[in-house]
Amino acid sequence: MESITIHDKNFVPYLKHDEIQELIKNLAEKVYEDYKDETPIFVGVLNGVIMFFSDFLKYYKGKCEIAFLQVSSYSGTQSTGIVYKKMDLTKDVVDRHIVLMEDIVDTGNTLENLFEYFKNTQRPKSLKVASLLLKPDVFQKDFTIDYVAKEIPNKFVLGYGLDYDELGRNLPDLYQLEEGRINH
Ligand code: 5GP
Repeated sequence: MESITIHDKNFVPYLKHDEIQELIKNLAEKVYEDYKDETPIFVGVLNGVIMFFSDFLKYYKGKCEIAFLQVSSYSGTQSTGIVYKKMDLTKDVVDRHIVLMEDIVDTGNTLENLFEYFKNTQRPKSLKVASLLLKPDVFQKDFTIDYVAKEIPNKFVLGYGLDYDELGRNLPDLYQLEEGRINH
């Protein structure tokens, strides 16, 4: 893996595709242990989740359904703190067991907004969260993330579905921003 430049920024290699697969496989097994007697609906939060979502499903061996919705809060490499809902939930999940699938949890603002949305409009039987990545140094909410594949430092990451100004989502590996920390 070599460093890459996207727009004006340099990114250094962080996690190889194979290592990511191993993390997701373990995560899918944990989720299966908890849901093997149910048919959960995995709800992908677009766009960043696409690769994680599709690989997770390949490793999940139980019965399940899927749905999507789209939100956005990032501008460049900074969180704006404001969460925009861009695409409605693709199907009703009332009275069902829901696992929200996130690419990365940073401040937790997106999830806080989504919890509110699901509580007010969907009333699921249960609501949990699975995230590929979590930045524990930034996350300061009073809820916990039920399933996390990997905790990472507070540095902007790119690739494997995650973008920098819409580029880089197609990279099979994960990269980290070369310059210092991000200010929130
Ligand atoms: P939060 O609302 O938890 O602050 O941020 C969640 C969303 O911000 C993620 O779903 C993702 O779209 C975006 N995000 C947060 N951190 C990063 C990062 O390091 N890289 C990229 N590409 N997106 C991020």
